[in-house]
Amino acid sequence: MATPHKIVVLTGAGISAESGIATFRAADGLWERHRIEDVATPEGFARDPALVHRFYNARRAAAAAAEPNAAHKALARLQAAGRHDLLIVTQNVDDLHERGGASNVLHMHGSLAGALCAECGHRWPAPAAMPPEDPCPACAAPQTRPDIVWFGEIPYHMDQIWDALREADLFVSIGTSGQVYPAAAFAQDAARAGARTLELNLEPSALTAEFDEARQGPATRLVPAWVDSLLA
Ligand code: NAD
Repeated sequence: MATPHKIVVLTGAGISAESGIATFRAADGLWERHRIEDVATPEGFARDPALVHRFYNARRAAAAAAEPNAAHKALARLQAAGRHDLLIVTQNVDDLHERGGASNVLHMHGSLAGALCAECGHRWPAPAAMPPEDPCPACAAPQTRPDIVWFGEIPYHMDQIWDALREADLFVSIGTSGQVYPAAAFAQDAARAGARTLELNLEPSALTAEFDEARQGPATRLVPAWVDSLLA
């Protein structure tokens, strides 16, 4: 195969697991002992905003205490080498890609670093701990929320992501279970447009059979090795 120039990497919770941030489906559909319906849906937020804020405040604190690992840093190294056009699309809401040195990162499921007004759509940087009764600085509505894309909501940056998938020579999925759409369809979207596809995951995922190649192991081993092979 020709050397890939345009690369789209999709990352999921698995790339941050070795930094000490829990994945989501690993423990029978619970995220840090909470039901997804309670903490990651607009309905859960409407039922109990204080619980949802407590949950994301704890995730924000855990992410701030975590350090980027060798996998995050390897992707940044690939970008910095400048020989490939690399777009990182992440489902993660932590900022470990950026703190590992990467740029050109699209957070399709939002970010713990952001606050969003459900009333008027205004966005601003989230404080370390968001109080549930925090008023929006633009419209003063009392129910501000973390700028996280919940189940049933439309992910961010989709037009840009689909354009990049259509133009990609190589699509690589790292540390994602392939159970959350539309990200779970990216490998097929990219393949249909002519890209080669590679999966790097701890274990076979729901989508492994759809990839041209799949390698199993921890991200901190697989990702640096893959980057080394590209830069060799
Ligand atoms: P997921 O939890 O559903 O799946 C994680 C995948 O990573 C699994 O397939 C698992 O086998 C693999 N994995 C676990 N440890 C690994 C390692 N050390 N190396 C390589 N692979 C490893 O994650 P998802 O597919 O990203 O979906 C979860 C959703 O929950 C996302 O939408 C995301 O927004 C959210 N979430 C985010 C974070 C974060 O920001 N770090 C953490 C948990 C959940």
